[in-house]
Amino acid sequence: MKYPKLRELKEAIKALIKGPFTTKFPFEPHTPFPRFRGIPVPNEKEGCIGCGACADVCPPRAIKVVDDLAANPPMRSIRWRHDYCIFCGQCERLCTTKEGVKLSNTEFDIADLNRNNMFAEIKKELIVCSDCGEVIAPKEQILYIAKKLGPMGYSNINLIVFTQQEFLDTSHIASEKSSQSSGRQSAFKILCPKCRHQVWVFDDHGK
Ligand code: SF4
Ligand code: SF4
Repeated sequence: MKYPKLRELKEAIKALIKGPFTTKFPFEPHTPFPRFRGIPVPNEKEGCIGCGACADVCPPRAIKVVDDLAANPPMRSIRWRHDYCIFCGQCERLCTTKEGVKLSNTEFDIADLNRNNMFAEIKKELIVCSDCGEVIAPKEQILYIAKKLGPMGYSNINLIVFTQQEFLDTSHIASEKSSQSSGRQSAFKILCPKCRHQVWVFDDHGK
């Protein structure tokens, strides 16, 4: 029992000479450790494609995805709520592009009297089905997939039509509305899986 007592005494004397180990923040600036996990900072311009995959892996559901279909053009907003965030880093680790969001290692002082101010948000244009208006994906996500697939993207009619629209003026074909998705003329429109299925079924049966 003698040794632990001496060891504690030694620690106490050392602490008296060296001073407290705790930092003096907020009276003095604090520099976190290099691998410190601060608030998630989305990279709206170069990185985030608005896919919303991070919201599915966020343990406390701190990431909210809201689609505004009444807007012109339809928009998706993705909001990282700092007041719900537990700074686990899952959104950064499992981000589709690996560049969409990064946990800051300098921003940690997020105290605010109004918790509704504690968020970061990005907005992305949505592509919707030409016939039923169902959400297909954000525009940047479709371009990202087309780029990833390269020539293999030509196996998907939506990707062909969409990338053509981006480089040629074929928007009038894709945005033409019909009362029903049927017939070969509908094949070259941007459609959701359900309407696309209808087009092929009607085409196959020649109705
Ligand atoms: S690109 Fe990354 S950060 Fe952006 S919505 Fe998708 S998973 Fe989230
Ligand atoms: S760091 Fe964790 S809790 Fe915070 S937004 Fe990302 S996934 Fe959600």
